Amino acid sequence: MVEELNPFKIAQEQLDKAAKIMKLEKEIHALLRVPKQILEVSIPVKMDNGKTEVYRGFRVHYNDARGPTKGGIRFHPEETLDTVKALAAWMTWKTSVVDIPYGGAKGGVICDPKKMSNNELERLARGYVRAIGRSFIGSEVDIPAPDVYTTPQIMAWMMDEYSVIVGHNEPGMITGKPLSVGGSLGRGDATAKGGMYCLREAAKSMGMDLKKVRVAIQGFGNAGQYAHKLVTEMFGSKVVAVSDSKGGIYSEDGLNYSKVMEHKNKTGSVVNYPGAKSISNEELLELGVDVLIPAALENQIRKDNAGKIKAKIVVELANGPTTPEADEILNKNNILDIPDFLANAGGVTVSYFEWVQNINGYYWSEEEVYEKLDKKMTKAFHDVMEAKKRYNTDPRMAAYIVAVGRVADAVKIRGVI
Ligand code: NAD
Repeated sequence: MVEELNPFKIAQEQLDKAAKIMKLEKEIHALLRVPKQILEVSIPVKMDNGKTEVYRGFRVHYNDARGPTKGGIRFHPEETLDTVKALAAWMTWKTSVVDIPYGGAKGGVICDPKKMSNNELERLARGYVRAIGRSFIGSEVDIPAPDVYTTPQIMAWMMDEYSVIVGHNEPGMITGKPLSVGGSLGRGDATAKGGMYCLREAAKSMGMDLKKVRVAIQGFGNAGQYAHKLVTEMFGSKVVAVSDSKGGIYSEDGLNYSKVMEHKNKTGSVVNYPGAKSISNEELLELGVDVLIPAALENQIRKDNAGKIKAKIVVELANGPTTPEADEILNKNNILDIPDFLANAGGVTVSYFEWVQNINGYYWSEEEVYEKLDKKMTKAFHDVMEAKKRYNTDPRMAAYIVAVGRVADAVKIRGVI
């Protein structure tokens, strides 16, 4: 039978499993299985050729019991409401597992940004903010951020449009902004950095010396590139394989970060990097490495290949890279899989720091940001490992138990249920 890969069904299935283990009250489970509210909008955009295109956009608020909702906006040709709903659910668990005072949300627009000019993208960004409007976003309501194919520049346009609508400058209504309009230092590599803090703690708990480990990274975008740089700089680990959508490269002696970056910038891909062997993305996942970092797409580790994974630690920088059936196989094989909404929570944590700085009008040094990020991630990792032990379950379920437990407490204490 083909595995069910609808992301929202997967998100619900994961919640159902956690609810059973933690004996979650029926009413709270019912509330947390579905989003609180969904807004679907049309965005007419004047194109450079004088014609108007009408784009479809979404914003999903999943749950706001712990604070204003938070989550990125994706511009993607294959965006679906189910994907946005799933990502909004995962944002709820992500902000909760790192214990920042937010709920979860996500947004998306069905469009192909690669085929749009900068001016068209600006009009789409401003149109999205006008359509979502004053009541659905705001620094105390719902705070968007960059995500797939949206950039700090797009955040700046959105912040400007919103400020015009409300009649005052409000940098805290969106995060991931450029530094000149209230962005935070340390935001660029925050996702990968958060994953590295988790990896450091995982290795410590397993008695693994990170100086001696071999690492494979799938995906060479923001998350994957920084993972390569940081795992080398912070721990001295050897990255033997990396890949992108065009394929992968492998070198027994290790791949030099700056040289691979130079090659990627020059040719548009990591493939054909001099001196490395070409491998497929499937082969990369199954290499005899110690640490595997999926940093590309969802559903990469499935029941058909999970049994072939040899890494001892998997750091899920990508969202949803492992299917529920694959989870069981990894766990049975004693592979420590640091789940996505814990491993990649560094980005949203620094987004939270950006919001705090915007609200206070007082800005921190990069060192302060990293120090605070390290504390948050380290605490979250150990909270999850403790739940793993207490409930004798896998790391993803343990992360769910911690996160859902906190949201459930907030729902109960507010008297929602
Ligand atoms: P990105 O667009 O910068 O990079 C994605 C990379 O994946 C590119 O190198 C692309 O070539 C590669 N890729 C695409 N299809 C592939 C395939 N079939 N096999 C192998 N590689 C493929 O995106 P990103 O920001 O690095 O995000 C990557 C993942 O991390 C996503 O799942 C995203 O949701 C997640 N994530 C990112 C952040 C962040 O702050 N950037 C935060 C949380 C989660």
